[in-house]
Amino acid sequence: MGLHEECGIVGVYGHPDAANLTYLGLYALQHRGQEASGIVTYDGKVFRQKKGQGLVADVFNPNNLALLTGPSAIGHNRYSTAGDDVLDNVQPLMGNSSLGTVAMAHNGNLVNATVLIRELELSGAVFQSTVDSEVILHLLARSLAPTLIDRIVDSLLRVRGAYSLLFLTEEGLIAVRDPYGVRPLLLGQLDGGYVFASESCVFDLIGATLIRDVAPGEVIKINENGLKSFFPFPKVTSAQCVFEFVYFSRPDSTIFSQSVYGIRKRLGRELAKEASVSADIVIPVPDSGVVAALGYSEAAMIPFEMGLTRNHYVGRTFIEPKAAIRHFGVKVKLNAVREILEGKRVVVVDDSIVRGTTCRKIIKMIRAAGAKEVHVRISSPPILSPCFYGIDTPTRKELIASSHTVDEICKHLTADSLAYLSEEGMFRAVYHNTSAQTGSFCKACFTSKYPIPLEEKESPQLDLFD
Ligand code: AMP
Repeated sequence: MGLHEECGIVGVYGHPDAANLTYLGLYALQHRGQEASGIVTYDGKVFRQKKGQGLVADVFNPNNLALLTGPSAIGHNRYSTAGDDVLDNVQPLMGNSSLGTVAMAHNGNLVNATVLIRELELSGAVFQSTVDSEVILHLLARSLAPTLIDRIVDSLLRVRGAYSLLFLTEEGLIAVRDPYGVRPLLLGQLDGGYVFASESCVFDLIGATLIRDVAPGEVIKINENGLKSFFPFPKVTSAQCVFEFVYFSRPDSTIFSQSVYGIRKRLGRELAKEASVSADIVIPVPDSGVVAALGYSEAAMIPFEMGLTRNHYVGRTFIEPKAAIRHFGVKVKLNAVREILEGKRVVVVDDSIVRGTTCRKIIKMIRAAGAKEVHVRISSPPILSPCFYGIDTPTRKELIASSHTVDEICKHLTADSLAYLSEEGMFRAVYHNTSAQTGSFCKACFTSKYPIPLEEKESPQLDLFD
């Protein structure tokens, strides 16, 4: 199964440059998935697709983009775990139903896909891929509801989990955000056409105007008659992923009606208020800790320095599946600046500790560059549990905070001190802007309380608890 997907999606309706705009959008969302990329277009008669493994820039070129004709398009960037990176798994997925062809791009993760797949296979379905998302296509192909949109809703009423979805159909472009609104999805406008994207940085790049978030539980259909919005699912308390603010989304994006940069900076400020320490400089772990470190530095009134330099031509640490490569990756990616660090008492700020591997290496590096003291400050609470809703996390056993106290982690890291931001501090930062319609959040990775029920027999991901 394609279990741990963190993806970026883009959709364009009613624009002569749909494929090129989608390509640019996927470029802006490269951080959400670097393993594969795909675009499907529809010109009113024919669906065309180009999919491939690798970065957006590796998959697309002027020649193959020129073949993706038509005024509507959807695109997808995918991250997958090792073994699953076959071309069949690259989205958008396509299928034919009695109501026509449907292409679909999914960001999120379904928690009851295994049971549904087994059920469908027993009744004759042949799955083309090993991604959980395909189950939605099978369910909608079997639905007897009268219209395509009814069939989409019908199928989504049977799945459970996180899904921000784009469907390109002969009847128009359809966008859906699951009732919990776990993953972001935004609506924008460009030259009289419409655009959807996982993050608003896409709209900035292509010159689109952000209209609003697609609301949790909302289904939006766009066709030649315009835009229609429905709320067909039973209402639940929203559970938007707070980790999107902490780490995952780009700081220049607005998601869940708030600026990621603004929240990240406030996370740093709250952290400084909760866990101050006498030091000479504050340095971030680039890039993930930069904005929080700025907030920390401002609130603590300790100068901010870039004491670590990042090589931007190396992928994110987490893409590399084997521990051996990850250890190596830290050195390849980051280097300490002796000029800045020598003889200093240093506060190093990062957004999170997952396994503890990166941070330990970094501290070693900072000390080797002559730092006198190294104090680690983390702008979110300890990660205790894996995510089942679309962010890649290792098994619970590998999460260092699941089995170690803060003191033990501090010793393991060889830091002079370690402090995490409290859950209360994190939400003070998130709810700071009381006028924003922020909604409520999933914080399961920090609390082990899962807002969308998981059932053992349904989810092979529960292996992550091993
Ligand atoms: P680790 O060495 O496993 O403790 O990784 C910690 C680093 O991974 C931090 O710098 C985080 O910014 C980054 N990180 C946090 N969450 C994730 C994630 N889901 N995938 C990849 N990297 C992450």
